[in-house]
Amino acid sequence: SPASKIKIRNAITNRGKRVKVSGWVHRLRTQGKDMKFIILRDGTGYLQCILTGQLCHTYDALTLSVESTITVYGVINELPDGKKAPDNHELLADYWEVNHKAPGAEDAFTNKLNAEADPSVLYEQRHLVIRGEIASAVLKVRSRVMKAFRDHFDSKGFTEVTPPCLVQTQVEGGSTLFELNYYGEKAYLTQSSQLYLETCLPSVGDVYCISESYRAEKSHTRRHLSEYSHLEAEMAFISFEDLLDKLEDLICDTIDRVLSHEPTRKLVYQLHPDFKPPERPFMRLDYKDAIQYLKDHDIKKEDGGFYEFGEDIPEAPERAMTDQINRPIFLCRFPAEVKSFYMSRCKDDRRVTESVDVLFPGVGEIVGGSMRISDMNELLEGYKREGIDPAPYYWYTDQRKYGTTEHGGFGLGIERFLAWLLHRDTIKECCLYPRFMGRCLP
Ligand code: ATP
Ligand code: MG
Ligand code: MG
Ligand code: MG
Repeated sequence: SPASKIKIRNAITNRGKRVKVSGWVHRLRTQGKDMKFIILRDGTGYLQCILTGQLCHTYDALTLSVESTITVYGVINELPDGKKAPDNHELLADYWEVNHKAPGAEDAFTNKLNAEADPSVLYEQRHLVIRGEIASAVLKVRSRVMKAFRDHFDSKGFTEVTPPCLVQTQVEGGSTLFELNYYGEKAYLTQSSQLYLETCLPSVGDVYCISESYRAEKSHTRRHLSEYSHLEAEMAFISFEDLLDKLEDLICDTIDRVLSHEPTRKLVYQLHPDFKPPERPFMRLDYKDAIQYLKDHDIKKEDGGFYEFGEDIPEAPERAMTDQINRPIFLCRFPAEVKSFYMSRCKDDRRVTESVDVLFPGVGEIVGGSMRISDMNELLEGYKREGIDPAPYYWYTDQRKYGTTEHGGFGLGIERFLAWLLHRDTIKECCLYPRFMGRCLP
C-alpha cells in the first residue's frame, strides 16, 4: 500500500497506517542476526523502528551507524504492555534506505561526547551536542518559553519593538561594554534596550522586546554570558507596587502557559522532575532587611566581614540567601549608589531607589527592574553621579521634556529563567551557542 510521509510527532495519529519517516539514527541495537532496533529522531520526536530478517542482512544494515540519515517505510503499531519504546509505539519496517551514512563508532562524535567528556570539548563540539536528548529538549522548551512571554505581553496589549544593538550609550557600568569601531566612531554592543523602550512609551504605549544584550563579563560564573537573550518591558502611568504586581503576573502566567502545552510540560518534568510553580504572592524583602538577614545567618564577605548598608550584594551571598529561603523573592529598595543612574528614589527614604531584583533559588537574580526617574533635573544629577557625559543621551533626556510621567520596567535574562525552570547547573546550557570569555566558536 502507498505510504504517507509523516513527522514523528504524528506517529500515534497514524497508527495502523503505512508511513514513510525520515530522520537521524539516534540509537542502534542489534539482537541476533535477524533484528535491529533503531531509535529514529527527526527533531519532532523519537520513533522506534524495527528491521527484521532480510532487511538486516544488507551491507547498509550491517554497517549502519548512529547519526546516519535514513528513510523507513512500514506500519506503526502500538506496543503491548511490557515492551518499551518511545510513546509505546513502533514502526515495523517493510523497506528502508540510507540517505547518508555517518562515520561509525571509531569517530570522534561517538567517542568524545559521552557523559565523562571534558566540558570544554562539549562547548567546542556544541553543534553535535545539540543533537542530544537533553540539549534539544532545552532548546524546545526555550522556544516555547519565548512564545509564552510574547503571548503574555500580547494578551496585555503590549507592542513588541526591535531596538538597535549598535549603540553609543551605556546602561550599566562601563566595565562590561564591548566597544567597536563604527565607521571610525566609537560605538558599543548594547547592554540593554531599556533606554530605547522608554522612548517608545509616548509612541506605542506599553512596550517590550526580546533582544540580545552584550556584556564583557570578565569572570566565569554559572549565570553570566557575554551575549544573552534579554526580555525587557516598560510601562507608563504605573507605581512601584504596580510594577511588582505586573512582574509577578508575567512570571506566573508564563509558567502556566508553558505547562499547559502538553509536549512542553513533559519536557519540563523530564528535565526537572521536582519542578513546582512558584506560589503567589512572592516574598518581599527590602535590601536593608537582606543586609540584616546576611548578618543573622552568618553569610559574610570573603574578607570575613559582614555586608553593610550601601554595599552591593554579590552573586555568592545573594544565592546563599535565596537558596536558604528557597522561594522567589522580590528584593526591593536598593541604595542609589549600587544601582544605575536612571532609577528613581523612594519618596519616604531618598537614600534608596524604587528598585527590585527578582531572586530565584538555584540561580539568584533573574530580573532587575525599577521605576525610572521622570524629573529632568534628577536625571541630570544621575549622569553626574555616574560620571556619564550627557551629550549622547540627549534623546533619552528629552523624554523628561516632552510629557514626562511616572514609568518603570524591568529586564529578565531568558537563559537564567530557563536554568531555574529546567534546573540546569549553568546558563551556558540554556542557549544555542553560548558566548563567554574564551569562546566565540562555533
Ligand atoms: P548580575 O548582578 O548577575 O551581574 P545585573 O544586575 O548586572 O546581573 P541587569 O543589568 O539587572 O543584570 O540585567 C537584567 C537581567 O539580565 C538580569 O537580572 C539577568 O537576568 C540578566 N543578565 C544580566 N547580565 C547577564 C549576563 N551576563 N548573562 C546572562 N544574563 C544576564
Ligand atoms: Mg552584572
Ligand atoms: Mg545584579
Ligand atoms: Mg540587576
